[in-house]
Amino acid sequence: MRIKDIFETKQVVFSLEVFPPSPEVAIENIYQTLAELKDIDPDYISVTYGAGGAIKKNRTVELSTLLKEKYDIEALAHLTCINSSPQNIDRIMTELKNNKIENILALRGDKPISGEIQGDYTHAWQLIEQIKQSNDFGVAAACYPEGHLEAQNMQEDLNHLKYKVEAGVDYLITQMFFDNSLFYRFREQANNYGIKIPIEAGIMPVINKKQVGKIIELSGAYFPEKFKRIMLKYQDNPVALQDAGIAYAIEQIVDLISSEVDGIHLYTMNNPYVAKRIKSAVGSLISHINGLKNRQKNSPSLDKE
Ligand code: FAD
Repeated sequence: MRIKDIFETKQVVFSLEVFPPSPEVAIENIYQTLAELKDIDPDYISVTYGAGGAIKKNRTVELSTLLKEKYDIEALAHLTCINSSPQNIDRIMTELKNNKIENILALRGDKPISGEIQGDYTHAWQLIEQIKQSNDFGVAAACYPEGHLEAQNMQEDLNHLKYKVEAGVDYLITQMFFDNSLFYRFREQANNYGIKIPIEAGIMPVINKKQVGKIIELSGAYFPEKFKRIMLKYQDNPVALQDAGIAYAIEQIVDLISSEVDGIHLYTMNNPYVAKRIKSAVGSLISHINGLKNRQKNSPSLDKE
């Protein structure tokens, strides 16, 4: 199934992100995690591709296939093009197609620390154009409510985003953010630039101190005062910090759903306990909102009320 079709039927799509186990670990090690994530009934699960430079690339296809075949969950395979070649990308697309994976999150990938890009690709739009040459995949892309770290300013980033979307993107997933007002501003700006496709909000529950430094390094995300207070208050109490981090993510999600977000993409960090707690807090609200949309579609008279 193309994920863009899920957006047609739901007011709020709820999806999860996982990363593949390291190459030296048996794939069976992730079975329990996936079974628990299936229990919370996501619309689809995305699988990262060598995120953070780790050598986990080959396992994206393997894990995406497992999600579809063993767990009957729609998969979104991340694919990065930096330091790759068109032949290599074609090879991976063939593998994905042979395994009946129908959706790709097309990404450039982070530049190496040296800043020098090797290979044939400089930006994600080139990968998107290549994927779109066949009609084999639905395509998602990344976007940045606070602007991408390399962009001079938001206007420049939005211009590039518009170009990328026009290359054939079905929907966007945002970088994590901790202040919803930044997402709302971005959504409005994107709309003003003519970007009308669904935008799923990427939510990262911060449940330990180590994550904070990593987030700053990778995304440069802004932390609001109330978030900082939580981190400061509970930094030496792991259980309280986890509880507070989950509560913060839930509060963000409820506010986003109430503001007509198209979807929530939860960065699970392969932690089903956290994902379960969040879904059990917001699942019934999402079902309610999605039920309203279905009733409106099936009963024209309700539109008039
Ligand atoms: P692009 O869209 O190419 O943008 C990169 C920069 O180039 C931006 O500053 C943009 O403004 C600029 N730009 C774009 N087009 C042009 C142009 N035509 N001319 C000049 N400048 C241009 N990384 C991984 O390695 N593996 C993953 O699995 C992964 N998953 C991710 C999932 C999500 C939801 C997100 C938000 C990010 C993910 N990343 C992942 C990180 C991502 O690869 C990096 O943020 C990367 O630096 C940019 O990727 P992009 O696809 O957004 O690139």
